Amino acid sequence: MAEIIILGSGTGIPSIRRGSPGLIVLSDNTSILIDSGPGTLRKMLELGITYQDPDLILYTHLHPDHTADLVPTLFACKYGDLPREKDLLCIGGSGFKSFFEKLEELYGSWIEPQSYHLTVKEISKEALLYRDLKIFSKPMAHISGSVGYRIEFKDGKSIAISGDTDYCQNIIDLGIEVDLLILECSFPDGKKVEGHLTPSLAGRIGLKSHCKKLLLTHLYPVCDQFDILEQCRQVYRGEVLLGEDLMRIMI
Ligand SMILES: [Zn+2]
Ligand SMILES: [Zn+2]
Repeated sequence: MAEIIILGSGTGIPSIRRGSPGLIVLSDNTSILIDSGPGTLRKMLELGITYQDPDLILYTHLHPDHTADLVPTLFACKYGDLPREKDLLCIGGSGFKSFFEKLEELYGSWIEPQSYHLTVKEISKEALLYRDLKIFSKPMAHISGSVGYRIEFKDGKSIAISGDTDYCQNIIDLGIEVDLLILECSFPDGKKVEGHLTPSLAGRIGLKSHCKKLLLTHLYPVCDQFDILEQCRQVYRGEVLLGEDLMRIMI
């Protein structure tokens, strides 16, 4: 069993209703943060989760709306009331290590861990085994180094998350028969932008992957003027949820 909590259902465009991308996955004793857009660290506090808690941070890509709170996280781990003690593993796609080296050049000792061990890695083609979790990734159709993830839990449940992507076979493959497929849905039908999905394209991915439930997130402000769920349901007949900040889903 795992719980998935949306920290931000929006994008990089400021919105009262929707924070920037961030998602928490809680399973047994493991806490995974997936992306950390601006505001994520503070939003976590509303769930009683702090900068101390995530064991693993997975980044889908390097756009600022997905990574801006990485530096504040490391800064808090060092200078918070209680310096972090448990290990932290940070993972991203290709290019993540050189991105992180540039942050180290810029911020130096301010983000350098002192009281805990930090590992920064790029995900490979092979499955990553983390405690009792299996994590798979594939490149997404967005920017160079973008990846989506599939996480399999020890009880046989599974989720997949696209991060930002356009329609592609890789996200269908990651989502095959998962209990929850979390897809970006940046723009309404008729207003598609290259590198992103619309509700009907997300529905097509849901249909082809035979996922058990679909969750749409990464909604640009314009989405709130349209019936996104209805547009998606024209294609996908299974259960589909419209992401909201602090929405919780058990699988
Ligand atoms: Zn984005
Ligand atoms: Zn992006």
